[in-house]
Amino acid sequence: MKIENPGIASRTRVLVDTPINEQGEFVLYWMTAQRRLRWNHALEHAADVAEKLEKPLIVVEPFSIDHSFASDRLVTFVAQGMLDNRDAFEGTGVRYIPWIETHRERGSGLLRRISNRSCLVVMDDFPTGHPRHVMERAAKILQTRLHAVDGCGVIPMSWTDKAPPLAHTFRRVVQRRVIEAISGSPKPNPLESRSSSLWMPENEYSVLLKELRFSMTPLEWLWRVSEGGATGKSALEPLPIDHLVPSVESSRGGSKKANKLLEIFVNQRLDKYSDGRNNPSEPMTSRLSPWLHFGHISALEVVDRVLKKGNWDPTMTPDKVTGSRNGWWGLNEASEAFLDQIITWRDLGFHFAYHRPDHATFNSLPEWAQMTLNEHANDPRPSYVFDELENAETHDEIWNAAQRELRETGVIHNYLRMLWGKRILEWAPDPVTASDWMVRLNDRWALDGRDPNSYTGIFWVLGRHDRAWGPERPVFGKVRFMSSANTARKLDLKGYLNQFGIGEFDTIEG
Ligand SMILES: Cc1cc2nc3c(=O)[nH]c(=O)nc-3n(C[C@H](O)[C@H](O)[C@H](O)COP(=O)(O)OP(=O)(O)OC[C@H]3O[C@@H](n4cnc5c(N)ncnc54)[C@H](O)[C@@H]3O)c2cc1C
Repeated sequence: MKIENPGIASRTRVLVDTPINEQGEFVLYWMTAQRRLRWNHALEHAADVAEKLEKPLIVVEPFSIDHSFASDRLVTFVAQGMLDNRDAFEGTGVRYIPWIETHRERGSGLLRRISNRSCLVVMDDFPTGHPRHVMERAAKILQTRLHAVDGCGVIPMSWTDKAPPLAHTFRRVVQRRVIEAISGSPKPNPLESRSSSLWMPENEYSVLLKELRFSMTPLEWLWRVSEGGATGKSALEPLPIDHLVPSVESSRGGSKKANKLLEIFVNQRLDKYSDGRNNPSEPMTSRLSPWLHFGHISALEVVDRVLKKGNWDPTMTPDKVTGSRNGWWGLNEASEAFLDQIITWRDLGFHFAYHRPDHATFNSLPEWAQMTLNEHANDPRPSYVFDELENAETHDEIWNAAQRELRETGVIHNYLRMLWGKRILEWAPDPVTASDWMVRLNDRWALDGRDPNSYTGIFWVLGRHDRAWGPERPVFGKVRFMSSANTARKLDLKGYLNQFGIGEFDTIEG
């Protein structure tokens, strides 16, 4: 069956190439990364196929706890998103099943059983972490035709043929193809005006669930988890997950909160983005990274809102590629700066991870960076053990504040995140251990961790997507240096340290 929408076709990979099973009972969308109804290429694709086959569509949103970073923090955020999705799917004529894996029932067993009864399985194409693992495993074990659809970013991942080394080179790809990419955006509501055949009647549905031995996640339990605090904690207690990483009260997961944040950003912060981005007490940024990571909002929708706010149309943009960070869109400086982050820098990480399965390791660094860091691996340095870093117990109160922000809120302010990484490079016993520690801390505590952008940021600290800098220094070699003292001179940290610091401001060193 030909995929007619070119926006979807260029984002779809056939991972199990058997014919569509026309005797199947339904089309299945296994929603592992783009956890939303709106602006979702995979959902639109699954609905298109189901409609053509005149079969029902079933959407299962699984969340696996079968990985080392599953914690109260992540399960709560995802459960909150599931409740929003449940509301969003209500009345659309499509069955939506939120499903948090328990120790009794593992995802791959259920997927295998349910896929055997389906015509086609559609899954999210995601280039890192557990969603990538699930996709690769499904490609090996499923017998039913499997399509992986890339709803990750603005530029489809299949449009590059190798890992882009620099933002500068990738920006040229963006400028060459972004208008084509935007014109292939999914429908804001992919389930609007669909055929009634997408709905599986109640009797068939309950028989199917029974035969599949599908023990659905009880709604009442999802409500309790979503509550957070003591109620959420006690609901999560039976799960074998990391209970020491608590839910974040100030960040409710789900598309509703993501859309509110987008409105606030576009109406109140966007115009101040260029200058206000680096203000750690009140950053004029979108704060959307956790919601983008869990797919509660689409980067294409965010871009669309920003372009609409600037009354943009393609005639404002030159036909030629300039490679320049500013001025290409024909918008104000703040919007241009924001689009560069959410398109060039964000997509850079996805494309890199897509082409480089080793993207979260030291070996993925450019040769010059590996060489200079290795040459300085034995330089004397103030060393900490991992626990001291994790518990924010260093002599540097700015760094401790950043680590506390991560532990308490699940994110770190962008500028301080760079400093946070640079100091770990300085304090870990060697550069390979530094990269491992950054990944461990970020993946465990960050709501937006385990994302291609996590590894863009962490490996940028070690020289990826950057150039060599002079003078050559101890520990850093030719890798760009940053210090807390310079950060304190550059930024007004008073409010930030009041919020996350506990020591004296003048204990900062280096
Ligand atoms: C050591 C280190 C670790 C990082 N870990 C993560 C991480 O785990 N997850 C994550 O999403 N980002 C990470 N970043 C990148 C960046 O810090 C965050 O994306 C940004 O601070 C998120 O805040 P925001 O949503 O308000 O961003 P905004 O400024 O509002 O930008 C909008 C979106 O664009 C993308 N973006 C913005 N800045 C960058 C950047 N420098 N690189 C790549 N994408 C960017 C993000 O998706 C962000 O949500 C890391 C950076 C460093 C230096």
